[in-house]
Amino acid sequence: MRVFIGIGSNVDNPEGQVNAAQQALRILPKTHVIASSSMYKSPPMGPQDQPDYINAVTELETLLTPHYLLDCLQQIEQQQGRVRGRHWGERTIDLDLLLYDDELIADARLKVPHPGIGERAFVVYPLAEIDADISIPGKGLLINLLADCPRNGLERLESK
Ligand code: ATP
Ligand code: CA
Ligand code: CA
Repeated sequence: MRVFIGIGSNVDNPEGQVNAAQQALRILPKTHVIASSSMYKSPPMGPQDQPDYINAVTELETLLTPHYLLDCLQQIEQQQGRVRGRHWGERTIDLDLLLYDDELIADARLKVPHPGIGERAFVVYPLAEIDADISIPGKGLLINLLADCPRNGLERLESK
């Protein structure tokens, strides 16, 4: 299955945290990393009194089921010391399952495509960097979302 993971961090060496999460994705069972976007810097969503975020998107090929993959993502968040604080508040690492093949999932634990995927510049631009021809189940072509998505201060960083 073709899967895209959204990665974000804004405390405790955010670039290092994103790198560490990408390393952890590399060693998941039945999974291969296909591609990663550049790293991006973006202003925070929600509470504004927190540092800017470092974001990236990583593409995987996996045989893991969506819910098992979510378990794995949450385990990586735990390993990297994620503490649940205020809504959309600062975090060492956030791993969101953005897309799982062409599946639409909406249950108590898991919503795929990830809600907000179309409105968030720090998701749309890195996804398009990996593959501009992606289509998002229920939302249409990524390039159309991109056309309607202001960068909102999103900055692509030079080195990965
Ligand atoms: P947002 O989901 O708006 O980006 P967030 O990443 O800060 O906010 P979290 O606190 O990390 O939210 O996650 C809250 C819950 O979202 C998780 O416990 C998980 O069960 C649920 N969830 C639903 N769909 C997804 C998904 N596609 N990827 C990751 N978590 C998801
Ligand atoms: Ca998130
Ligand atoms: Ca999350």
